[in-house]
Amino acid sequence: MASIFGHIAASTALGLSFFPKKTTAKALLLAGVCAFIPDADVLAFRFDVPYTSIWGHRGWTHSLAFAVGFGMLIAWLFYRREKDWWKMALWFVLATASHPLLDMLTTGGMGCALWWPLSEERLFFPVQVIRVSPLEIRDFFSKWGVRILLSEAIWIGIPGILLVLVSRRIQAERRNPES
Ligand SMILES: [Zn+2]
Repeated sequence: MASIFGHIAASTALGLSFFPKKTTAKALLLAGVCAFIPDADVLAFRFDVPYTSIWGHRGWTHSLAFAVGFGMLIAWLFYRREKDWWKMALWFVLATASHPLLDMLTTGGMGCALWWPLSEERLFFPVQVIRVSPLEIRDFFSKWGVRILLSEAIWIGIPGILLVLVSRRIQAERRNPES
């Protein structure tokens, strides 16, 4: 995993960039849940499910199919009465999908079963730059945690801020095309 901070930074940046009119506290919270929920699969370790199993960590919950299903479910549960609830669905799907995509950039563990159920192959991106976060929270509050946050600030924080700034700029130009 990237850390919870890294995943929530990604879901927040996606919302602020692409759905700026929708970024209520509730929506940001739900998008954060979407971005972190794939790691609920660490519970599998408690039940002795091997890491390599599709039911194990970075298995089916780290797939694009899961992202589509979970993101749409959350949007349907909380926003189905709004006529443009599909926008929330899109944001939540992207937020959930950002999780395995970020994990595929981390420096440790196994890859993600991104294409489940079509394939159970565990994938990484060709480059891995984000320091992997420990699975035990107590390990995070150490020098290890500081290094992870620094690495996430560089590889998630800065691109996220740039994405928000560029999209704001584009939206402002659309509103005032002559300026
Ligand atoms: Zn993960």
